[in-house]
Amino acid sequence: MEYREVELPACKSIALIAHDNRKASLVAWCARHREALAQHRLCATGTSGALVAEDTGLVIERLVSGPLGGDQQVGALIAEGKVDLLIFFWDPFEPMPHDPDVKALLRIAAVWNIPVACNESSADFIVASPLFAGRSQRMVPDYERYTASRSAR
Ligand code: PGA
Repeated sequence: MEYREVELPACKSIALIAHDNRKASLVAWCARHREALAQHRLCATGTSGALVAEDTGLVIERLVSGPLGGDQQVGALIAEGKVDLLIFFWDPFEPMPHDPDVKALLRIAAVWNIPVACNESSADFIVASPLFAGRSQRMVPDYERYTASRSAR
């Protein structure tokens, strides 16, 4: 795969998701980092977004609930370059009806080189990074060069 560099603005798009047993942790984490998160654009799957917004007052664009397709919506936004960072507190103890969607989302985040935090300590490291508040760059797949190299075969 060929890659190209894209610029990330200081104000980033952050997607928030938590499975049911992890929602309290996500709400507490967002409350702890409220000021830092308020500098960015936030979206979330339906229930996670409602709980975080209610507790913190943060403005959050709410997508569909995860089991109804919200994880896939976040994945599509990542593929469109509209999500820069994923905070995804998935439940390591319970199987989910939408486990295939979870796997697909984590895959697409890896494809597009999106920073992903699956627990509080990773999320703390991301917020503490100078890249979180500032401008930065990210390498992403270069679709033009990818298709050109395939058609040259
Ligand atoms: P929810 O979805 O925020 O709507 O509960 C999260 C999930 O289960 O993926």
